[in-house]
Amino acid sequence: MKDIAHFIAGFRRFQEKYFSEDRELFEQLRLGQRPRTMIVACADSRVDPTLLTGAEPGDVFVVRNVANLVPPHEPGGGFASVPAALEFAVLSLKVEHIIVLGHAQCGGINALMSESGNGGEFIGKWVGIAQRARERVLADLPAKSPALQARACEQAAILVSLENLMTYPWIAERVDTGAMHLHGWYFDIAQGELLSYNPALNGFEPIRAEAAAMSKGESSG
Ligand SMILES: [Zn+2]
Repeated sequence: MKDIAHFIAGFRRFQEKYFSEDRELFEQLRLGQRPRTMIVACADSRVDPTLLTGAEPGDVFVVRNVANLVPPHEPGGGFASVPAALEFAVLSLKVEHIIVLGHAQCGGINALMSESGNGGEFIGKWVGIAQRARERVLADLPAKSPALQARACEQAAILVSLENLMTYPWIAERVDTGAMHLHGWYFDIAQGELLSYNPALNGFEPIRAEAAAMSKGESSG
């Protein structure tokens, strides 16, 4: 119960901070949300997107899953948690940015690279969304250590998710007209650094204030 008591005390602090000091914000939020950014992040306990970005309540619409993956558009596809979140964020909330936030030491990507998830009921199939990232890494870096291959796959899987985002017609259309921008970010836990995908370099680099946006003509290959 230690964790639970800690979380309840944490909520009391949150309540005091936001409801006494920032009442105006919550008066606005009571009426609805208007976030301009959606983040797709990993379920990993170390990679909380609002904590990492300093976002306030109402700032970001978040979906988290194992290995921060976006499945491709698949009409009639099963219980589609990520597509449902995308549909709501893009068509109803009209977000202007979608950030796919990957990270170092990702257990989901490790399961994909080592195929250790394949014996389970769900993980192997889920992380298989990024199978082409695994294939690219094994083809491009066959002699590298498993750790370097995993890091390359964590980054390649972000690009797979960005590519998959473009298979949703209502996302592709908005990206093509410049109404929406896609971003690939990578949180390096060991270095405490945030990297951003730069389509011009076809690689990740330390993020700058004017973070590169992926828009028309810059989509990843
Ligand atoms: Zn992860």
